[in-house]
Formats: sequence, C-alpha cells, structure tokens
Amino acid sequence: MFQIEFDSQEAAVGIDLGTTNSLVAYMNLAKPEVIPGEDGDKLVPSVVSLATDGRVIVGNAARQELIDHPDRSIYSVKRLMGRGIEDVRDELKLFPFRIAEGSESVIRVVLGEKTFTPPEVSALILRQLKKNAEAVLGTPVTKAVITVPAYFNDAQRQATRDAGRIAGLDVLRLVNEPTAAALAYGLDKRQEGVIAVYDLGGGTFDISILKLHDGIFEVLATNGDTHLGGDDIDNRLLRIALEDILSEWGDDLSHSGEAVQTLRREVVRAKEQLSFVPSVLLAFEWNGKAYHREITRELFEGLIQDIVDRTLGPCRDCMKDAGVTAEQIDEVVMVGGSTRIPLVRSAVEVLFRARPHTEINPDEVVALGAAVQAGILSGTVEDQLLLDVTPLSLGIEMYGGVVSKIIHRNSTIPASAGETFTTGIDGQTNVLIHVVQGERELAKDNRSLARFDLKGIDPMPAGFARIEVRFLIDANGILQVTARDARTGREQSVEVKPSYGLTDEQVEAMIEASIDHAEADFNAAQVASARVEAENILNATDKARRNPAWQQLSEEERASVTTAVNRLMVAVNSDDHEVIQNHIAALNDATHALAELMMNTAVSSALKGTHV
Ligand code: ADP
Ligand code: MG
Repeated sequence: MFQIEFDSQEAAVGIDLGTTNSLVAYMNLAKPEVIPGEDGDKLVPSVVSLATDGRVIVGNAARQELIDHPDRSIYSVKRLMGRGIEDVRDELKLFPFRIAEGSESVIRVVLGEKTFTPPEVSALILRQLKKNAEAVLGTPVTKAVITVPAYFNDAQRQATRDAGRIAGLDVLRLVNEPTAAALAYGLDKRQEGVIAVYDLGGGTFDISILKLHDGIFEVLATNGDTHLGGDDIDNRLLRIALEDILSEWGDDLSHSGEAVQTLRREVVRAKEQLSFVPSVLLAFEWNGKAYHREITRELFEGLIQDIVDRTLGPCRDCMKDAGVTAEQIDEVVMVGGSTRIPLVRSAVEVLFRARPHTEINPDEVVALGAAVQAGILSGTVEDQLLLDVTPLSLGIEMYGGVVSKIIHRNSTIPASAGETFTTGIDGQTNVLIHVVQGERELAKDNRSLARFDLKGIDPMPAGFARIEVRFLIDANGILQVTARDARTGREQSVEVKPSYGLTDEQVEAMIEASIDHAEADFNAAQVASARVEAENILNATDKARRNPAWQQLSEEERASVTTAVNRLMVAVNSDDHEVIQNHIAALNDATHALAELMMNTAVSSALKGTHV
C-alpha cells in the first residue's frame, strides 16, 4: 500500500511542441487530458509575435499579428531548431524567416527590433503552455516531457531541451512523437508488436515504424517529407479561389498580403469542415465585393489526390528500411490534423491493409502520450533519469588549445567513441592528453576533467605517429579515457568520475555562455589555429636559414625574409586571425626564392649521389 502525496508532487506535464500547433496535457488521475488556453482553444498555434510595446504574444492572437505585423511575427520556428545557417538555406526560400546578419554559428531570427535564437522562440511558446497549465492546475508547473520528431538529431534534440530550460521547465525526457502517440493508445500494454505511425500535420509528413518488445518502443525506421502537409492542401484551394476571383472581379489579389491571409483563413476553415460534411461553402468578402463557391468533397478529393499519394512512397520506403511488410504491421496510428481527411484515412487503410486508429483526436494524441510518459517518469526515481544522457560534450585539447569533441552532449549512455590524433613536433616521445568537458571551442574555457601523459612513443617526424584516443562512458556515467600508440601498442588510461558533478546551474551557465560566446569562440578558434600555423612556418624558416641555400640568396632577399619573420613574430600576438594569416602569407612570399633554391640543392645533391 502506498499513499499518493499530491502536495509534495509537482505536476509534470506532457508537451507537443509542433511546427504548426503546440499543446500541453497532464494526467488527470489516471487519464491524460489536454489543457486549453485562456481562449478555450486546446491547440496553441506555434506563432510568436513581439508587439511594438515589447509584449510577447503567442498562439491565436499571434496569428492575427502575422497578418498585421509580419515583420514582428514568426511561425514554423521548429524548422530552425538545432540547425546552422547552411542547414536551413532551403527553408529560407520557402518561409519568411528573417535571419540576423552574422548568424554563422548560431542562427538568430529578427522580430521587430530584437533578435532571438530558435530555442528562445520555442521557449516563448513553452512558457505560454506552462502558464496555461498553471492556470488550470492551480500549481506551479516545472517539469515536462517534450516530444520531438523521431528523426531529430542530437543538435535538434538539444535545442529542444534548451528551449525547455529557458522556459523554466525541467525537461524530464524528450520522447519521440510516434512513441508518444502509441503510448496514448496504450499500445505499450501489448508487450509485442509492430506499429506504424502516420503523421500528416500542417507542414510536415512523418511515417515511423516502431517495434514494441517488453513494453519498450524501438524506432525501426522513419521516413517522410519535411515539406508536405495541410499547408499544401490550403494552397491548392487558395489558388482556385484566387483564380475565380480574378476571372469574376478582374482583380488579382494574389499580391495583397492581407487579402491572401484573410482568404487563407476562410479556405482552412472550409477544408477542416469538409472532413465531416460532404460539401462546404467558401465565402469571402473584400472591399465590398463577395465571392462564394461550393466545394464538394468530390472536387476536393480530386484536387488533393496527388498530395495524399505523395505520402505513400515514404511509407513503402519506411517499411523496406524497417524490414517489414504491410502484413507484419499490427497497428496503424493516425497523428496530425490532416489525417482527419477521409481520403487520407482510406489511402492509409489500403496501403497497410489495416484500419488505422483514429479514436483519439489526431492533433491531441501526441500531447496525451507525452502526459502519459510524464506521469510514468514523475513517479520514478529522478537520479536514474539524469544519467540517461551526457549533459555536456567530452573531448580532448589539441595542439593550439582547440577542443576536439569526442562524445557530444546529450548522447545516450553507455556511449563509446574514438578518434585518431598525431604528434605536432618532430621526435615527440610523449603526448599530454587533456580531457575537457563543455561546449566551448577552446580548452581553457571548458571544465578540465583530467590530464595524463602517453609516454614511450617512437620518435618520428611530426604528423607520423598515430595515437588512438577512446572515450567510454558506462551505464553509471563513469568516463574512461584510453590513449594508445597504434605503432607500439603502448596504452595509458584513466578513469574520470566527476562528469556528472556539475550542478544544473553550471550546465545552464555553460549552455548560456556557449550561446553568448559562439561567435567569439569561433574567432578564438581561428586565432588559435593561425598561431599554430605561424609557429610552424617560423620554425621551418629558422631551419632553412641554417641551410647552405640561405647564403646563396642576395642580401636584399635575406633582409626581406628577416623582416617578414620579425613582423610575423609580432603579429602572432594579435587577436585577429586575419592579421596573422596575412603575415604568414607575406613570409611565405618572402621565402619563395629560398624554398626554390633549397629544392634545387636537394635535387642536385640527390642527382650527384647517383653518379658516385
Ligand atoms: P503540426 O504537428 O505540424 O504542428 P497539426 O497536427 O496540428 O500540425 O496539424 C495541423 C494541420 O491539420 C493544419 O494544416 C490543419 O488545417 C489541419 N487540420 C486540422 N483539422 C483538420 C480537419 N478537420 N480536416 C482537415 N485538416 C485539418
Ligand atoms: Mg505534430
């Protein structure tokens, strides 16, 4: 027997942080339930707007702002989470994201006069959901399970985790969206089985195949299309309406942002109704003129057939990757608002030869599953949860003070990874292995965990030795570092324990620092590597001056080398990598003739050798 203590147990909620809509749910005794916002709507549109007075507006109200103040509003920010500017070039062609100048290392989006990172924008949505939950539950909400697409990589997951933290939420776990959906249906009670989760939302399509064994879900394969969903359907209807209006009124409204946005809303309303009734009336008034058109389901289905068909290829590919046939799939779960469309349901039923689960609202099912997971987790020992991933990256310091990350943060443990390094100096017989933890580019800015020497390397020219460094984190979170000279097989290892000794605050501060300093770090790393390069060329020049070829140079040529050497020796102290690089280039130029002479001497002495 045990007693549940409500007052000591803070509510843990489940959150579906969606591209189009976000929701928060909680366990109401034994049943998950979605919590509506102040406006009574359970779906909070994932739209954030910054009012001119500095107020942050989220959800339905922000959707209105999207029409009135597009330059102060942002939607679909999930597409930017955990991604670099290079990753999102294609998104930028399709979405009106305004990316701040100089967003090389960390993307910042512009909202009015301010800029925000994607996790900060997502945090604003999360904060709104947290507030909605607190208002209904009457208690502070500080713990949450947040869902992410199954295909999200480490960086995208970490960005989501960061968003939670910025919003003041302790993220108990990130759960894959399809897993959450399966949980909401209680499919974990089956113990065994293969489950397909078909998720057609506003702008994305995801298909996942899960395998359930002993009540644990394993993602066998995922597939999908990151630019396919309800938005495409809206665009089809919108185009028809705009064409009608052009021919009826003689007005081309397609360039009037406000008209298009208003018409789009009407189109979405009609589309959503059409999932339940055989025909709807599309009605739109603009500048005293009225447009009406009846849309039958038949017409609608003809219009969107190819969009629905485009989801089937990824489903087949996913089954192939998962190594299962349609017959082997035990259950099909429908997720995402667009799966309410009868044509979508029938297409899925034909493909998988099974009637899909649609009993739970497809736009709530992920949040409900997240709440189930939150309920499970908040009833268990927390320490175990904290150990399931590495909170910060682990790496070693390289020549020049730059960190090479070996195990990235948020990797699930146990984890093991390795990399091969080499020596930086001729004849080097030992290397210092410096193990550090943190996200910054330079070792000195991270937490130092251990230092040890790998001795007894055979003396060789710089760059010839092969030193394999291997990191292993066991299930208890204990890090073991091994360095091995591949030639001699000599090995040295240490056990490093305090990797989980960091407090949340420290992790927090480090994450914040890494975001704040990302740009500065990038420059510092460039300076460090320029300095290494400068040192190498200075050493090489020093050697060359002792070569007989040096005496063959004209006095003028020797003077210019000496000047370039002196200038580079000063420039090395600069904090601007370009200054160092410029002086490296100058010294390279100055030593050109010397290098040629040395080559000739080497070649001619080699040739002489053959004569003897
Ligand atoms: P996401 O997971 O991308 O945030 P949702 O699962 O909330 O998105 O799905 C949003 C999409 O579902 C929108 O395009 C919306 O118009 C569509 N949708 C919602 N209800 C219906 C309906 N009854 N019929 C057709 N489409 C619908
Ligand atoms: Mg979704």
